[in-house]
Amino acid sequence: MAYNVAIDGPAGAGKSTIAKAVAKKLGLIYVDTGAMYRAMALFMLRELVDPRDGDAVSQKCKEADITIDYENGEQVVFLNGENVNGFLRTEEVGNMASVISVQPAVRKKLVELQQALAKKRDCIMDGRDIGTCVLPDAQVKIYLTASSHVRAQRRFDELAAKGQKCDLEQIRQDIEERDYRDMHREHSPLRQAEDALLVDTSDMTVEEVIAHITEICERS
Ligand code: C5P
Repeated sequence: MAYNVAIDGPAGAGKSTIAKAVAKKLGLIYVDTGAMYRAMALFMLRELVDPRDGDAVSQKCKEADITIDYENGEQVVFLNGENVNGFLRTEEVGNMASVISVQPAVRKKLVELQQALAKKRDCIMDGRDIGTCVLPDAQVKIYLTASSHVRAQRRFDELAAKGQKCDLEQIRQDIEERDYRDMHREHSPLRQAEDALLVDTSDMTVEEVIAHITEICERS
């Protein structure tokens, strides 16, 4: 059986930064499941699908072939054969991902892909439902969080560093809306698995969080 680490938590908690670094330290692959939902969201945006029309989203998702591969240790997401990594990290795509990910047909398709990957490879996988639904038997489960103010500031800094124009208050509102949707949806809502360890990173540096989680993994 492969060694699996599940990291869940709300938007902007630092999951991907932390998971990527810990994966490198421990020689695991990093699976970013948010990127898969984002690729599906990009597909819906390009196809002009109304995200609130559940039937349309469920039908259309059948036409999206999403696969992932690794190039120099980096996850690359392919949408119908096209490398779409460069299009995924915008607020528009993130918000669309949160809206369409409530659809069971979308979740089923992506969860199957995630489970197949985790079965074959030792990995750290991050998302919203990894410990509760995708990998219920993961050897390590972490629930990573931080206050919405801290998370908004981090996302603002991340976008600003890439030269994207953004408004801090708007980002905080989007984050809180997205949290609400992710935590209250009917299928696989975001919640801490009973056997997950809670790590609140509001007052921790990135290095501290990496060291803490690496230690937890090494102990188990
Ligand atoms: O983590 P990231 O911000 O890239 O995820 C984008 C959106 O995809 C989330 O807000 C969430 O709605 C959805 N998602 C999900 N389940 C996952 C990963 C992401 O529903 N495992």
